[in-house]
Amino acid sequence: MDAILKTRRPGEPEPNLVDYERGAPGWWSGIDRAADGTLNIAEQAVGRHARGPRRDHVAIRWIAKSGAVRDITYRELDALSSRFANALVGLGLRRGDRVFALTGRIPALYLAALGTFKAGGIFSPLFSAFGPEPVRSRMSLGEGRFLVTTEALYAKKVAPIRDQLPALEHVLLAETLDALLAGSSPDFATAATTEGDGALLHFTSGTTGTPKGALHVHGAVAMHDYTGRIALDLHPDDIVWCTADPGWVTGTSYGIIAPLTNGVTMIVDEAEFDAERWYELIERHRVTVWYTAPTAIRMLMRAGREPIARHDLSSLRFLASVGEPLNPDAVVWSQEAYGRPFHDNWWQTETGAIMIANYASLPVRPGSMGRPIPGIGAAIVRREGERIVEVATGEEGELALKPGWPSMFREYWRDPERTAKCFRDGWYLTGDLVKRDADGYFWFVGRADDVIKSAGHLIGPFEVESALLRHPAVAEAGAIGKPDPIVGDVVKAFVALKPGFLPTEETTRSIIAHARKELGPAVAPRELAYLETMPRTRTGKIMRRLLRARELGLPEGDTSTLEGSS
Ligand code: ATP
Ligand code: MG
Repeated sequence: MDAILKTRRPGEPEPNLVDYERGAPGWWSGIDRAADGTLNIAEQAVGRHARGPRRDHVAIRWIAKSGAVRDITYRELDALSSRFANALVGLGLRRGDRVFALTGRIPALYLAALGTFKAGGIFSPLFSAFGPEPVRSRMSLGEGRFLVTTEALYAKKVAPIRDQLPALEHVLLAETLDALLAGSSPDFATAATTEGDGALLHFTSGTTGTPKGALHVHGAVAMHDYTGRIALDLHPDDIVWCTADPGWVTGTSYGIIAPLTNGVTMIVDEAEFDAERWYELIERHRVTVWYTAPTAIRMLMRAGREPIARHDLSSLRFLASVGEPLNPDAVVWSQEAYGRPFHDNWWQTETGAIMIANYASLPVRPGSMGRPIPGIGAAIVRREGERIVEVATGEEGELALKPGWPSMFREYWRDPERTAKCFRDGWYLTGDLVKRDADGYFWFVGRADDVIKSAGHLIGPFEVESALLRHPAVAEAGAIGKPDPIVGDVVKAFVALKPGFLPTEETTRSIIAHARKELGPAVAPRELAYLETMPRTRTGKIMRRLLRARELGLPEGDTSTLEGSS
């Protein structure tokens, strides 16, 4: 597919990263580092803005499910989060204590995050859709001493397991928060945290197994801030909307911290996905930068062009996607439908911030996740025992990163062995297989766990799924390897059909024929089965290990993050 070249519309700002090849300012360029070595995410996100020229700028525009809008300026957000910090300290919070949040996207969540940073606690946001068991396992691993939640969520998800959380001492309910904050001072001396002090405990999506708790430090703010500017191209007048929930790392790094450190206005929508609502939101609030995920993009594609035509989406300047491979067709479609391509970027809970990206100033290659963030050392390697060897250009291998960037996780919580396994021979190993073209663009092949080995070929499920999605009947697709005595694995595909198509033998023949034509017989699925929907994590990732386990009659393993479960 051809690269998409972009043209700047009249009045649009120049991209922050003017020229990728010429390089960029350093990671810390947007952070005010104190001479005494203290550093606190909340101070960088709100404190300094509340004392500066952006104090009356709207920091958060919160949109309730009902549609009601509440604007919170930087000064207000600073004062409210200070009140929250005072409340925590008043209840006895000690430095490093874990403060969990189990709420929807309501203002209390954002005050809790910033208030916890200020107070020197470690913030751990959970998806409000989690059932009691995922809440229990995460809170007991993290030994949460504080929990911010709502009455209804408490009754349903926490009360049944409260006796299994001996570390939990204080439950702060959103319903009584106003009174608590009103009784606390709006002045708070931010804890004297330093770059290496813990700030966030984030659980991974659980796509490949039991979720791990990744610990991040205050120094991570440098990377949030920097990538917000360089990869998401944030400019001072932007209205940025990151659709992710803070229960997923994306919703914290780019749905709380990066927009605030950059001093822009961010949208928080309490409601879940709805194409009509989303377009209305973009139109009404003049969203300029929009960061979302492939599942949502595919749902928007399914909703079609008609709702787009009914809305004025001309405010959109920069579109980005993360979390799963973004199919090349989705990039081309967005360029046609919105006049803007989605810019895919890659990172993980462990990396804390975007590591590889498509940039405003570079042509987008549909299907590629882009090029490394300036200063990030990214290599494609092979494990040879204890040694790590770089592969030749064009060859597939594991994506490895040179340790040392500020938002690198410090440990899997209470699991030093697992932490150590990620680092070898001077590299952090990501577990993802990729390749790189001659111009330095990275292409996702698959997770090491998901890659299919068939008759001497290494097959990335993403390639198979992308081809299947190009068939007119296919809405969703997942591909796995199924053990075969002769070739090792054969490719088996699971497909959800678009409305109006039936799972007949003729449909099957047509889809397989299409796949064989696009992929060749060695890579095309040998078997096809139909599902209503794909099993996905709450962050929208296909759980191929579950497809595999169900196919082979094996135990399903940890399904705590499976969408629809509770
Ligand atoms: P777990 O580690 O618990 O199995 P997870 O890896 O899905 O879950 P996250 O940290 O939320 O948890 O996701 C990071 C992973 O998501 C990456 O390692 C990669 O496999 C995938 N990913 C993220 N962005 C992209 C992208 N742009 N293209 C392809 N894959 C991506
Ligand atoms: Mg992972």
